[in-house]
Amino acid sequence: MKLRLGLLWILIACICSGCSDEKVQQNDTSSSTCEVFAMDTYMTLTADGENVDKALNEAKARIEELDNILSTGNEESEIALLNKTGSGELSEDSFYLLEKSLEISDKTDGAFLPTIYPLMEAWGFPTKEFNVPEESTIESLLPLLDVGQVEIDSDKKSVSFKKAGMKLDFGGIAKGYTSDEIMKIFKENGIESGIVNLGGNVHTLGTKADGSLWKVGIQNPSGGEDYLGVLEIADKAVITSGGYERYFEEDGIIYHHIIDPDTGFPADNELQSVTIVSDNGLLADGLSTALFVMGLDKAIDFWRNNNTEFDVIMMTKDNVVYVSEGISDSFSTSYDMKLIER
Ligand code: AMP
Ligand code: MG
Repeated sequence: MKLRLGLLWILIACICSGCSDEKVQQNDTSSSTCEVFAMDTYMTLTADGENVDKALNEAKARIEELDNILSTGNEESEIALLNKTGSGELSEDSFYLLEKSLEISDKTDGAFLPTIYPLMEAWGFPTKEFNVPEESTIESLLPLLDVGQVEIDSDKKSVSFKKAGMKLDFGGIAKGYTSDEIMKIFKENGIESGIVNLGGNVHTLGTKADGSLWKVGIQNPSGGEDYLGVLEIADKAVITSGGYERYFEEDGIIYHHIIDPDTGFPADNELQSVTIVSDNGLLADGLSTALFVMGLDKAIDFWRNNNTEFDVIMMTKDNVVYVSEGISDSFSTSYDMKLIER
């Protein structure tokens, strides 16, 4: 109840103040910050520049627009309606996300599947009425994940599921796409310096206003106050997936929200968290989920085969941090660190 009231208060504060009332001082220049609660998470947008208030208001409106289209929990959303009917024409945004997520499924050999929703429902994540499904239930749902049964028409921007009961879920890429869209809005408004944090997923534009690099602390999956490490960057998305983000416990076992499409169970390997660093937020988000499913060795191979597109930081359950060569000089950690070479 307390939490609910807290959320409500933040919502009211945002609605009443718009995005641009709160000014924060940063070094010699002033930047503006806006807080939004959307996509089931707290978001903070900060930017610096002449048109900053307009940019932040446009960004907030865009976040709300995307949330209204993509939310599986909102019965009126485009995706919820599609999941009910099994076919329909899509908006530009949904169709783009569908095409991109099918590309990521293909690229990751099915570790990422936008058709994962029937399993999310079986485990109770959307309603928070958690439940460990019977093996037989999981077996019966696995065929619904087959992306080959999603038929799309690029001219009409329409989609049709070839098996009854198939459902989409863009929860694994929506925030990355949203941060790409915010960066676009910032740039259109002449902003050269900004940073957004969408529930732990960070995207930076340019450098800080004083020209120095952004310092992004990466959340420690084993809890506590300290970060897993700190990354110094400019113009990058830094997106993390981990079981610690959403989970429930039953009979002493923890079940989290990232499902291995091969088994229908929460991914269970040596990884605690995967952080992807890339110019492209959507790709970073899709890959953070996919590499978490793959496990350490496959994820390392995947990076070696695609290392021009992204870099990666992974923490194993025994608290060793693996960092790919492209960002190792920009990253510092107090944990044991192993370099992933090309
Ligand atoms: P992320 O925090 O980006 O890793 O996204 C996790 C969310 O992605 C979950 O809450 C589900 O909505 C969705 N999801 C879970 N497992 C998968 C999967 N194997 N492929 C694609 N999306 C998934
Ligand atoms: Mg993701």
